[in-house]
Amino acid sequence: MILVTGGAGYIGSHTAISLVELGHSIIIADDFSNSKPETVEVVQKITGKSVATHRIDVTDRDALERIFQNHQLEGVIHFAGYKAVGESVIDPIKYYKNNIISTLNIADLCVKYNVLKFVFSSSATVYGDNASPLTENMMLLPTTNPYGETKAMCERILHDISIANPQMQISLLRYFNPVGAHESGLIGENPNGIPNNLMPYITQVASGTLKKLSIFGNDYPTIDGTGVRDFIHVEDLAKGHVAALEHLSEGVHIHNLGTGKGTSVLQLVKAFEKVNQIEIPYEIVERRPGDLAKCYADVSKAERELGWKAEKTIEDMCRDAWNFEKNLKSKM
Ligand code: UDP
Repeated sequence: MILVTGGAGYIGSHTAISLVELGHSIIIADDFSNSKPETVEVVQKITGKSVATHRIDVTDRDALERIFQNHQLEGVIHFAGYKAVGESVIDPIKYYKNNIISTLNIADLCVKYNVLKFVFSSSATVYGDNASPLTENMMLLPTTNPYGETKAMCERILHDISIANPQMQISLLRYFNPVGAHESGLIGENPNGIPNNLMPYITQVASGTLKKLSIFGNDYPTIDGTGVRDFIHVEDLAKGHVAALEHLSEGVHIHNLGTGKGTSVLQLVKAFEKVNQIEIPYEIVERRPGDLAKCYADVSKAERELGWKAEKTIEDMCRDAWNFEKNLKSKM
């Protein structure tokens, strides 16, 4: 039995589906602070299996411990966490408290109950301004916001826990830019308020919810001057978690989950327009503080060690993201 914290969230729910489809039994723990219980219903509908779900906040150690007491857990995949970069700058205490305490609680209980496998949602942001392609052995550099720091700190905490508890099997997965949605169109990214991330912004411009996209800078040293990112389809990312879980062994194992390909903001907009036959009005505005020109992965380690490789294209990502947005709109 695998405990999936944040299993109703964007990446958590897609991973929950992959886990169940590949024969794992799971329990979800989620406080639904940035997700909806209906998403778990969709996970059950898609997989045809029922999934036990506990509405708890993972920073509540007693509530979390009851799950460890009542289930024979084999491992934990820990997604639950706050992730809005801008909000983390405004309210760093909220971010440090939530993201660090939740990770500590889980690790503590894993050690206490001898649950050896721990897969942690990290982020490419921990590379700071190292030059791309980014490799797992690079030294971590300061990030530009508290959200990024919580990811780097949790990685360090888990390293120390591994030294003290060498029987633990820890996977740190550094995500690049997850986009797209489940091919059913039933689950995807549905941020509260105005989206911060590029793809949800584009889909909301496409649906008419937002008027036009602001592109943050076109004077970067990149192919067309706009920022370059490594966009990865969320279903590929989900499968990467299952591969990481299934290949775990003692110690800490770090893997980039990306495609290894850089795509510029403008290239993504053009691909979206072409594949969905919709025009995305945009204007070029100032650079966004803290943004890097380029961020993309070296994915050879994940391929070599996990036998995993992203398969979906930018076109798949654009089509599935739009398909989900249309479904969402039609239900409103
Ligand atoms: N971006 C943009 N307009 C937006 C949102 C994002 O031009 O409304 C750009 C951003 O500057 C970066 C890329 O899109 O180059 C990806 O940004 P996102 O926030 O999605 O992810 P990040 O790479 O910052 O984690």
